[in-house]
Amino acid sequence: MAKGSGNNVGEAVHYTLHLTNNCNMECKYCYVDDNNIQVMSFDTAKKAVDLASKNSKDSIGIIFFGGEPLLHRDLIYETVEYCKWKDKQSQGMFHFKITTNGMLLDEEFMNFSAKENIFIALSHDGIKEAHDSYRIDRNNIGTFDTLSDKLNMLISRRPYAPVLMVVNPDTAEFLARSVEYLYSKGFRYIISSLNYAANWTDRDMEVLKSQYEMLGQFYFEKTIAEDKFYLSPFEVKISSHISGDSYCHERCELGKKQISVAPDGLLYPCVQFVGEKDFSIGNVNTGIDRERQETIYSSNEEEKVSCQTCSIRKRCNHYCGCMNKQSTGSINKVSPIQCSHERLLLPIADRLAEKLYKKKSAMFIQKHYNDMFPMLSLIEDSGKRKL
Ligand code: SF4
Ligand code: SF4
Repeated sequence: MAKGSGNNVGEAVHYTLHLTNNCNMECKYCYVDDNNIQVMSFDTAKKAVDLASKNSKDSIGIIFFGGEPLLHRDLIYETVEYCKWKDKQSQGMFHFKITTNGMLLDEEFMNFSAKENIFIALSHDGIKEAHDSYRIDRNNIGTFDTLSDKLNMLISRRPYAPVLMVVNPDTAEFLARSVEYLYSKGFRYIISSLNYAANWTDRDMEVLKSQYEMLGQFYFEKTIAEDKFYLSPFEVKISSHISGDSYCHERCELGKKQISVAPDGLLYPCVQFVGEKDFSIGNVNTGIDRERQETIYSSNEEEKVSCQTCSIRKRCNHYCGCMNKQSTGSINKVSPIQCSHERLLLPIADRLAEKLYKKKSAMFIQKHYNDMFPMLSLIEDSGKRKL
């Protein structure tokens, strides 16, 4: 099933603007330090956009992030206006994305996002038992019920909005039902990741494994039915099989393909590092410190001692410095949980891929073997978006 693929380490093309470290929620697994609330000024946002445009005249992604970015929607509006002005001066082709907890989504923002083509990614953990265990508001109340109508509004206006799920040890048993719930609400792009910082036991991993087995069957049925359904754990592992040895270089690239901009204008290689000044790679006033950027990038690229002889290292996410940082506090150290997770997921994804390949599933072949598919898919999704 292998397919060749190139590797091109280029300039950063996505700038994640951390508009604030403040949030209207208090998720139990949140890693954002909100002890000292900061808000990005428009001047800093402008400088970040200028920096992005100085480094690239091509497609530039601006991602609005937090805390909760919709707490400062005026700043989003102003920044988008400024990017449009830059675009007119041929100083970059900007496209936009926001990652939100959804609590402040309303008609006004949906209209704005439709007009300016802002891609909305929603954080949501699935069924009530899973979601409300962790995603609570400032009064300690689960946000599932409040979000129900927001989910309907989002998916009716943006049928291809992705949803980002976090799985915890005590919510692993709800994973399959949570994915099926989000699917039933209309979501077709589901990105689930583990809370690697949590305390996972062997039993939790067994539960997770059986959930992936169930989801494998669900994914199989949807794919055979020609449904365009993405479930990140399977997509990533199937892609790692098909891309072969080039796979590990197509991900992460810490600080090269995306840069995080903190509210105070300091630059970081990824979202997990924001606020940790030892990992800063410059600021919006003086630009990217290339030497520092390269040092962090190279350090992340080094083969981890614990992984040197592992037969699946080319297909493993242990190169993700951001994930390593979250789980172990170091970009060079892989958490045992991540290692176990890779080992349990890979055979399930491989069996699934083999089944779909043997069935000659057209959707599977298109998705994983047609290099043009992501582009064609995007055009198709844009055409179906309801304004
Ligand atoms: S919505 Fe995001 S930023 Fe806000 S508390 Fe939850 S995880 Fe943290
Ligand atoms: S599976 Fe474990 S040992 Fe193998 S590369 Fe991944 S993290 Fe390293």
